Amino acid sequence: MHYELDSAITYLPGIGPQRAKLLEGELGIKTWRDLLYNFPYKHIDRSRLYKISELTTEMPFVQVLGQFMSFEETGQGRKHRLTGHFWDGEMFLDVTWFHGISYIKKSVKVRKDYILFGRPGVYGGRLSVIHPDLDNPESMTLSKMSMQPYYSTTERMKKAGMTSRTLEHFTSALFSKLTWTLSETLPGYLIERLHLMPLDKALRAAHYPTTADELSAANMRLKFEELFFIQLVIMSYARKRQQERMGRRFIRVGEQFNTFYHRYLPFPLTEAQKRVIREMHTDMKSGHQMNRLLQGDVGSGKTLVALMVMLIAIDNGCQTCIMAPTEILAEQHLQTFRNFLKDMPVSVELLTGSIKGKKRAAIEAGLLNGSVDILIGTHAVIEDNVQFHDLGLVIIDEQHRFGVAQRAKLWSKSALSPHVLVMTATPIPRTLAMTLYGDLDVSVIDELPPGRKPIRTMHIYDNQPEQLYRGVIREIEAGHQVYFVYPLVKESEKLDLKNVQDEFVHLKEVFPQYKISMVHGKMKPAEKDAEMQKFVSGETQILVATTVIEVGVNVPNASVMIIQNAERFGLAQLHQLRGRVGRGAEQSYCILVSNFKLSAETRKRLQIMTETNDGFEIAEADLKLRGPGDLEGTQQSGIAFNLKLANLGRDGQLVQLARDTASFVLDADPDLRATDNALLRNHLQELKKENRDWSQIS
Ligand code: ADP
Ligand code: MG
Repeated sequence: MHYELDSAITYLPGIGPQRAKLLEGELGIKTWRDLLYNFPYKHIDRSRLYKISELTTEMPFVQVLGQFMSFEETGQGRKHRLTGHFWDGEMFLDVTWFHGISYIKKSVKVRKDYILFGRPGVYGGRLSVIHPDLDNPESMTLSKMSMQPYYSTTERMKKAGMTSRTLEHFTSALFSKLTWTLSETLPGYLIERLHLMPLDKALRAAHYPTTADELSAANMRLKFEELFFIQLVIMSYARKRQQERMGRRFIRVGEQFNTFYHRYLPFPLTEAQKRVIREMHTDMKSGHQMNRLLQGDVGSGKTLVALMVMLIAIDNGCQTCIMAPTEILAEQHLQTFRNFLKDMPVSVELLTGSIKGKKRAAIEAGLLNGSVDILIGTHAVIEDNVQFHDLGLVIIDEQHRFGVAQRAKLWSKSALSPHVLVMTATPIPRTLAMTLYGDLDVSVIDELPPGRKPIRTMHIYDNQPEQLYRGVIREIEAGHQVYFVYPLVKESEKLDLKNVQDEFVHLKEVFPQYKISMVHGKMKPAEKDAEMQKFVSGETQILVATTVIEVGVNVPNASVMIIQNAERFGLAQLHQLRGRVGRGAEQSYCILVSNFKLSAETRKRLQIMTETNDGFEIAEADLKLRGPGDLEGTQQSGIAFNLKLANLGRDGQLVQLARDTASFVLDADPDLRATDNALLRNHLQELKKENRDWSQIS
């Protein structure tokens, strides 16, 4: 460890207290190390000079060597501008400034060589460059400038005159101080085995590479390191827990499970359902605590699997609890479970924030004396001081919302750790799962129940509602029901989007012959339930809603999902919403209605939806399109990821390599006791301090 790197940035030339404050406030840069790890977001090749005759508006940044022959100042006030006529010996180029004009007039000379650096564009019908950087060719050798780093800046920084170029100066001042070799963080045997660039070289090359190849080797080394340490933390915890955390042994598959299986199960299980139930039973009888992630596409029958696993726990004398992300969903689970269980002697209770008073007290008493077998709740359940007699299994039916840290809270509910099953609402890509849920074993339901007709998805524009409405009438006349989903609850001044409340009124006029329900997040729970119930029972034919119905709502008779302003929704959300139909035997439809103006990315998103029903495919595409930063769950995961360079969407192979390498290291040396692994052991201890929540898991 070189403690020089902990020096404050004010120990660098050019950084006084004011700039230091800005750097800290805007980019979190306080020390030399922070500055060193503030990587450029791109490099621009400045090893080449262009002739003006070669320039086109398609080019990114280019540089031209030449001289200003004259300047011309025109206009007043907002029209005020300065145009320079730049000559490269063959041709003229217009160079225009709209502000800072007096400074340019003072500092830029005519008939003196400049390297002009900027983006060619068209202004006033002529090829020109606006607000270029100008460098003195004598002070800038092209070889040094071959790959120029570009650093992110914020509005505040720009206002204070701090540009990417300023940051580059700071960084180069730092490097001129770093005359020793920066110490390595990975053991030599790994660097050799994986052909990694040493850290010292990688850090320098990430800022000042000499070639594009060197830059990518440097980035690969640094990304690998980020991902590797995450995997090392996750896997060392998971392994420790596996050894140390005893679980109850659920050896018996007894009366409740068998009665249900033979007498009440309304349809045969799919092979995939059988397989995952077996996998979980194997975990639960192993004597160690189960920690498993159940992945399955929308409609693959995860709820039923959850119920059957719970019956195994009950057969072994334990209580179980399932947590849903919303109250609507929790209530739906209650109904589903009671419908499945019919008159079986299994007591199922619901506990949410809105259940209070005597009713709550009775349920809490039942939990404490063991008479409640299955508790269904929202996440509030774990936040509250709800006590169980003997909680043996916890199932988290989640929408990517339940992080590692929250899972850890469950452990305290019971002296002997309950088994834990996490179910995802939609599939998540493998690389993301390895990181978000890397401490869990994974089961996948990769098969839908038989007889489902694939949902037909169409994308239409919102200018022809009549056609859409005719389709709605056709479906309702055939005895089906229809969802309309909107992005907003009520009218917004800022957003030109459809809202549930206005459209509810509007659709009543369009369809006077039908009954319509409305649900959205601003309604009181009781009101919401009543409206929802009308749609479930078939009393209303149309349900207008916000995304509160996104997850889990199950009305098999509904055959059409119409999503208005579909451009506003993410892929995972669209897929979840679409999953509300196609639950019965009839052909179902999903209509994505958007306006005309769509970005390329949005168009791609809607196109993917029309091309595939496969949630795993959609999840991969989503990760590639958006990157993981935006994906639900990455922020809430409870792990301080701190990925500066690696991108879980694009660097999937590196994630795998990092995981394999972590596993290779831990296989050989589980506690990292070997001298070779001293670096890893020390770094891991630092990381564990940063992630205190994790310690509860180990
Ligand atoms: P999800 O995985 O999205 O939670 P659900 O558990 O809600 O899916 O199941 C979707 C529908 O499929 C439910 O109506 C459920 O009863 C039904 N279902 C589940 N398993 C089977 C099966 N093996 N055969 C037929 N239908 C099934
Ligand atoms: Mg479900």
